[in-house]
Amino acid sequence: MSARGEAGHVWLIGAGPGDPGLVTQGGLEALRGAEVVLYDRLAPVELLAECAPEAELINAGKAPGGSAMTQDEINAALVAQARAGRRVVRLKGGDPFVFGRGGEELEALADAGLEATVVPGVTSAIGGVAAAGIPVTHRGVAASFAVVTGHEDPTKPAAQVRWAELATAVDTLVVLMGVGRLDGIARALIEGGRPPRTPSALIVEATTPRQRVVEAPLDCIAEAAREAGVQPPALLVVGEVVALHDRLAPVLRRPLAGWRVLVTRTRRQASSLAEALRAEGAEPVLLPAIEIARRADPEAVRAAIEALRAGDYDWVAFTSGNAVEAWFDLVREAGGDARLFAGSSIAAVGVATARALEARGLSADLLPSRASGTGVADALLERGVEGARVLAPRAERADPALVERLREAGASVDEVTLYLAAPPADPPPEVLAALRAGEIEAVTFTSSSTVRNLATLLGGDLEALRGAIIACIGPQTAEAASEAGLPPQVVASHASVDALVAALRGYAAGEA
Ligand code: SAH
Repeated sequence: MSARGEAGHVWLIGAGPGDPGLVTQGGLEALRGAEVVLYDRLAPVELLAECAPEAELINAGKAPGGSAMTQDEINAALVAQARAGRRVVRLKGGDPFVFGRGGEELEALADAGLEATVVPGVTSAIGGVAAAGIPVTHRGVAASFAVVTGHEDPTKPAAQVRWAELATAVDTLVVLMGVGRLDGIARALIEGGRPPRTPSALIVEATTPRQRVVEAPLDCIAEAAREAGVQPPALLVVGEVVALHDRLAPVLRRPLAGWRVLVTRTRRQASSLAEALRAEGAEPVLLPAIEIARRADPEAVRAAIEALRAGDYDWVAFTSGNAVEAWFDLVREAGGDARLFAGSSIAAVGVATARALEARGLSADLLPSRASGTGVADALLERGVEGARVLAPRAERADPALVERLREAGASVDEVTLYLAAPPADPPPEVLAALRAGEIEAVTFTSSSTVRNLATLLGGDLEALRGAIIACIGPQTAEAASEAGLPPQVVASHASVDALVAALRGYAAGEA
């Protein structure tokens, strides 16, 4: 590989058919290391979140009709960026060499004497078809498949695709870019000798939460597509394997498929919930209802860190993952680390808080059965806190119950304010509009402050949310939602992202 100052390097990456989880490990690593990324319309946008914040992102996408960049412009940009010594990623939907013009881009780099790496991707022609429960080959049913472009007019004598021969030579035919020419394609295959009743299907937006399948015999597929309003991107599959769809698709069914689910946690915390939702087929819609603003009094923090270092605290009680995060930031800034806790026991309000501690090398000594401030207080009271010193690093305006109860029981509590959880100043208007239009199937709340702040973001008008399923991470959040007039249909069995998604899935599957 070239050293700095010399020519750069280009990675031609196949991003997979749509689900961001279908990019390869190698592709992801190259993407994270990129200084400039030229991405296509069909590459999953979620992957761009993996890029370094300072990476330059260039939309080379070609919308049907209008083109953002011509192929020549793309080739020239790749060459120029690499010549400037940069690490360049060319991110393409599916596989770069399956109707992706990756070969042409590589030719341009070869002509310029530049180096490149190809990272193959899952092509929609196989992976997208698979997502619909249709295997492209199947023992005893299909021993061959072909991937064909539907872009050309099949009635033109100069057409490159030999439809008449393909019609009978191959068991499974997968046609890409064919939505606009379904009549001509079906006719050409039937005229070539393919039986008109051959099972066929269109898979629209395969592997994404919006995936749809339209099935019909070959001679009716164009009509069925019109009726269903099929728009690109879609795959046409022709062959006996399509008949397996009815039997196999139910196994692959994901109860949250097609659901748009609002995620209200902070941007920093949203990704684990978003990923878990996506794994169930849902489309996470991010509306961070809280932003964490540092609000620490340096003197109080310094004194608490000193007391912790001296082993003065019997207990440190964390009532949120945000508090763990903020407290550790401050400890690190003060030159300390997890060893500061050596003389104290640690209480965590719930599983998520315990996980945040674990990520920093600490396991909680106490986890109450009820994930709330009162729950922590009661659990500590059971162990006896009279005369004990307790440190409670918390949010401004946090529920005072924990501290009050402990003090009543004779503990000496140092409450240190670390941050303020407030609604963001600039919520995305398109998400607010979607909420108001009732286009969101479910709303998740992961803390009572997300409930209060979403209400603030919506100008106090929660009417728009009444049609949505309300899902809460724990009893305290559920209480806050009910008080706000949004009694939850779904409450997680314990306070964790996985339990929240499992509860939502259970509800959607009709088990709730
Ligand atoms: N290199 C890509 C294909 C690019 S051509 C690959 O390997 O998948 C673009 C065509 O691919 C679209 O017109 C459509 O037919 C198909 N396609 C790509 N992604 C798709 C998806 N998620 N769902 C359905 N069709 C898709």
